[in-house]
Amino acid sequence: MQLHNSGAEIYVPDGSAVEKALARTTHLGISAHQDDLEIMAYHGILECFGTQGRGFAGVTVTNGAGSPRDGLYGKYTDDEMQVVRRKEQKKAAYVGEYSAQVFLDYSSAAVKDSKNPKVVGDLRQIIAASKPQVIYTHNLADKHDTHVAVSLRVISALRELPDDARPQHLYGCEVWRNLDWLNDGDKVIFNVEAHENLAMSLVGIFDSQVAGGKRYDLATMGRRRANATYLASHGVDESTALIFATDLTPLMNDPQLDAQEYVQRFINHFAKEVSDRIAKLS
Ligand SMILES: [Zn+2]
Repeated sequence: MQLHNSGAEIYVPDGSAVEKALARTTHLGISAHQDDLEIMAYHGILECFGTQGRGFAGVTVTNGAGSPRDGLYGKYTDDEMQVVRRKEQKKAAYVGEYSAQVFLDYSSAAVKDSKNPKVVGDLRQIIAASKPQVIYTHNLADKHDTHVAVSLRVISALRELPDDARPQHLYGCEVWRNLDWLNDGDKVIFNVEAHENLAMSLVGIFDSQVAGGKRYDLATMGRRRANATYLASHGVDESTALIFATDLTPLMNDPQLDAQEYVQRFINHFAKEVSDRIAKLS
């Protein structure tokens, strides 16, 4: 496989050939940064962990140069930070028993440039080689530009692929903005309470981020716990950890469907629910 950037790499934790590692992928996560996969696509990691016949592969699109840093990492240059973050992502791939971990090594600016065809080209190749059943990426209501750009590039890549190379499901997941606000009927709900130790380990591995000034480990576990408890006001907790997502599959399958219009539907449903309740009780 010929990826565009010279710094691109496909790491296979168990040492299998790259083609084999991609071909055995059933669940694929595509994220902007190192550590996003462990936050948003943990459902896919869990579905495959220790399970015969399934494989999770991760794709990290950016080089991670622009992350905030403090403490031990406070004086690291952007170049040094990229090295550390790639190493951390490899550690997560090993601990989570990923089938493969792809690094595309783009700058954030390249990902956000909608006229740059390279990101879409790389994604198309990886998806075609892995033919996953499920893809997890960022949701379109995320508040980080690079995250939303990645999601749009994933949708473009999928639209350019033939039907038999597309997954059955494309999900937009939570990182920079919870999806608790979605109406319950619009939520895709993933129960991720199993292997809590693994969940904590995977986010905790990213020391340059966590010790570097952002408690993503505690925040991610807290969000999952809050999702589980606050889902239903009149029922007892049925899980101790939930991840919410939006179903982006219609956008993949219908090239006429506009991404902005699609996400607006969810926002409209939310607005209507809030107004209807106030009207009912006034
Ligand atoms: Zn990110």
